[in-house]
Amino acid sequence: MHFEFTPRVIALREELLRFMDEYVYPNEKRHEEELAANARAGRPYAELPMMAGLKAKARERGLWNLFLPESEHGPGLSNVEYAPLCEIMGRRYWSSEIFNCSAPDTGNMEVLARYGTKAQQERWLKPLLAGEIRSSFAMTEPEVASSDATNIRCSIRREGDEYVINGRKWYITGAMNERCEVFVLMGKTDPDNADRHKQQSMILVPKNTPGVTIVRDMALLGVYDPPFGHPEIVFENVRVPVENILLGEGRGFEIAQGRLGPGRIHHCMRAIGMAEAALEMMCQRLVSRTAFHKPLSEQGVWRERIAESRMLIEQSRWMVLNAAYRMDTVGNKVAAKEIAMIKVLTPNNCVKVVDWAMQAFGAMGLSQDTLLTHQQLREGGRLGHAGLRRHGPEPGHAAHALLCLRAPPARGRWPRRGASQRDCEAGAGGVPVSGREGCARTRAQSFASAGASHAKPTPYTDRIQSCAGVTTPSLRRRFFTWLSMARSVTSTVSS
Ligand SMILES: Cc1cc2nc3c(=O)[nH]c(=O)nc-3n(C[C@H](O)[C@H](O)[C@H](O)COP(=O)(O)OP(=O)(O)OC[C@H]3O[C@@H](n4cnc5c(N)ncnc54)[C@H](O)[C@@H]3O)c2cc1C
Repeated sequence: MHFEFTPRVIALREELLRFMDEYVYPNEKRHEEELAANARAGRPYAELPMMAGLKAKARERGLWNLFLPESEHGPGLSNVEYAPLCEIMGRRYWSSEIFNCSAPDTGNMEVLARYGTKAQQERWLKPLLAGEIRSSFAMTEPEVASSDATNIRCSIRREGDEYVINGRKWYITGAMNERCEVFVLMGKTDPDNADRHKQQSMILVPKNTPGVTIVRDMALLGVYDPPFGHPEIVFENVRVPVENILLGEGRGFEIAQGRLGPGRIHHCMRAIGMAEAALEMMCQRLVSRTAFHKPLSEQGVWRERIAESRMLIEQSRWMVLNAAYRMDTVGNKVAAKEIAMIKVLTPNNCVKVVDWAMQAFGAMGLSQDTLLTHQQLREGGRLGHAGLRRHGPEPGHAAHALLCLRAPPARGRWPRRGASQRDCEAGAGGVPVSGREGCARTRAQSFASAGASHAKPTPYTDRIQSCAGVTTPSLRRRFFTWLSMARSVTSTVSS
């Protein structure tokens, strides 16, 4: 297995890194401001004015539809070639859309490219590839356990030259967006078929078809996600022409399996980019904050966490590249095991890194002043790791975030993981958190990193990188002793 970048990937990667430096990072603030302006104007789900200009630039520079594998519609990069590019796009939860490489459109475009008829490609794939419209994938239903897609109940019944659709869906990412025009919907055309995997079909449903009702947007840990949204939608006697069926009746599962692999690995790739960005922010923050007479970065526990973050990210990256290589060589179906493994490992690893980065920022880590809370709820790609975790959210994380949201840290105290509500309110068992000076400076510098290879060097770069890169077993053993000592010390101090 060779994961060296091909000359083509090297050129695309350099172009993409330049683009991120020139147009994405400098527009962070503008992105938030335009989101807020849209909300004030009562159109939270409208496209941000800045996006059209950025997309045109990305397209001019050949950074467009890079996700689409071998087909006349795309650049035909392999999964291994696309991985490092997708990772860079994932460094900001909103940037992959600039390159027309964001979920769920990437999965839907791949379905139309692979299974669509010429007419379906002309009507839907063409405007999607041009970034003129957006789409959603409607499978999950509130009434059934949807992680098992054979449970899907939405009915698709043939009546003459139309299909009539009745059902309720929710958490349909992107469906609130004003530019979303079509759903790839999964339902049952043959519910009594003895083969549970032949009961489902996939069909194209234009969003403005009579009978389609958006009931409400769904929140994530109490937070809404404009301009995309994840609404609950009712389909009541929705009629679409028979030509809208994809591949044919009873082939819905087959398409879902074909769509799942690329969708999952792209999420993992973006999540790694997000974790890299979080590690950079963590390092920059730690070298710039002094507590108890020394930079936080000198604290053993933080050196341990930086070292572990680097290992977690590298572990995820190699596992994802291995899965990509398998998909390229033996196909998505045979690579199912590798895809399943990264599906669990990558969100766990990346969430841990983002969590530590939030911890490094103290109260600010939970605030709107860093992108970490966005990352914690997304990422990835849409809701990146939440999306990634959408097939098995871990209660621990949700409870911890909820705990932090419900009981903001008492002055000078930080709720430790697992601390009860009462603990937090009583401000017991925590690690001291320092004040918020220089947050503007930290925010401005937050992307000049000490962790990642292309980061701009800072006085501490080599020392932190040596920590981040090299963790000899003896060093780790010493750290663990220090750590347990540190923990015992802090617990006695705080109690
Ligand atoms: C941010 C976000 C975006 C989403 N976007 C979309 C979208 O665009 N389109 C769409 O159709 N859906 C979307 N979803 C829904 C998502 O696909 C479902 O939540 C997911 O498939 C799980 O289904 P469920 O919620 O019904 O949980 P259930 O199926 O009820 O599962 C509940 C729990 O059981 C666990 N579980 C399931 N099977 C097993 C097993 N065999 N062994 C052990 N544990 C198991 C699950 O992991 C989960 O933790 C989104 C969800 C989120 C959070």
